[in-house]
Amino acid sequence: MPESRLGSSSPLAPPIYPSSVYRLPDLDALDRIYSGGEPGFIYARDGHPNAASLAAKLAVLESASWAVVCSSGMGALSTACLALLAAGDHVVASDRLYGRTSQLLKQELTRFGVEVQFVDVNNLDAVRNALAKPARLLIAETISNPLLRVSDIPALASAAHDRDCRLLIDNTFATPVLCRPLELGADLVMESLTKMIGGHSDVTLGMLAGNDPEVGKAAALKASVWGFVPSPHECWLTERSLSTLRLRMTAATANAAALADWLASHPSVQRVVYPARPDHPDHGLARRLLSDGSGCMVGFELKGLGRDVVNRFMRRAAGIAFCPSLGDVATTCSHPATTSHRYETAEEKARQGIVDGLIRLSVGIEPLEQIRLEIAKGLLSEA
Ligand SMILES: *Cc1c(COP(=O)(O)O)cnc(C)c1O
Repeated sequence: MPESRLGSSSPLAPPIYPSSVYRLPDLDALDRIYSGGEPGFIYARDGHPNAASLAAKLAVLESASWAVVCSSGMGALSTACLALLAAGDHVVASDRLYGRTSQLLKQELTRFGVEVQFVDVNNLDAVRNALAKPARLLIAETISNPLLRVSDIPALASAAHDRDCRLLIDNTFATPVLCRPLELGADLVMESLTKMIGGHSDVTLGMLAGNDPEVGKAAALKASVWGFVPSPHECWLTERSLSTLRLRMTAATANAAALADWLASHPSVQRVVYPARPDHPDHGLARRLLSDGSGCMVGFELKGLGRDVVNRFMRRAAGIAFCPSLGDVATTCSHPATTSHRYETAEEKARQGIVDGLIRLSVGIEPLEQIRLEIAKGLLSEA
């Protein structure tokens, strides 16, 4: 509807602008928009109101001066790499990254002449050794998948900055509710909006944010040139999700902490993986860096023979959907050994501690008792 028909009224809910292109009154208006002298849009791959509005809100949440919304989390990671790297550059990355991220680095960037070295980012000496060779980018995750190792972001930032290198943090498992990597010294933060931030398993989107305006400009340009354009409808849905992000993360995190303790005391459970628990290797780091809670992901290993007990759990606890993603309002479960880490070698899985009996819960916001009752069905010990 043309704005004039609204008179002095305006919609409380933001409109969706599906238009792929914008009309302009004359050449002077076109020039003013291209030169940045006036706000406005020209072609939706370069920017559109729904992406701009979502990006502005995300930048505030991340304590960033700019944010670029991309067509997926992988699009945001690719945008970061394209904005910062060129042939001959060296990248140091965590050896526990999200599967597609390590694939992007290992199999794609190397084809363009970028050299990538993987290190255990929880071993700061190993990180410093790797950075002895000049690197453009250090990449780590706030909380890793599925063993929920926590990165010491301030220490990684100072190790990177000592060597004139930038730190990029994938904050997907924490969200800006629990951690704001830019406040802790990171130069760039990335989120898969597909997960907790979208929160309802109905969008595929990503975001990259930072404070260096030159990198922000380069990122926006690369996202347009390489075509990582987000759909207006998905931006609109995600903007709506932001209104409940804090409530959802707070509720899911409280549920997760309670479930982790309950699972740890259950006779059918071999071990529990949750950073806030004293038996997690990064318990101290989690308490220091994630003071509002360790998030909604909980891992647990069933006693017995891996694959069979996992199948039995999934069939009995059918109210907990088995799906290889995370961050929905409902509790779901996944099986790292056959989903996220399916194509890793047996040695690599063993190195990371990803055993067949390990189930990863993405805890939702249902009443705690409802989730506990459903999980309990799957944990009944008789065959
Ligand atoms: C899902 C995910 C990604 C990739 O995001 P997409 O939106 O699926 O492209 C990157 N990092 C982490 C930690 C993720 O969970």
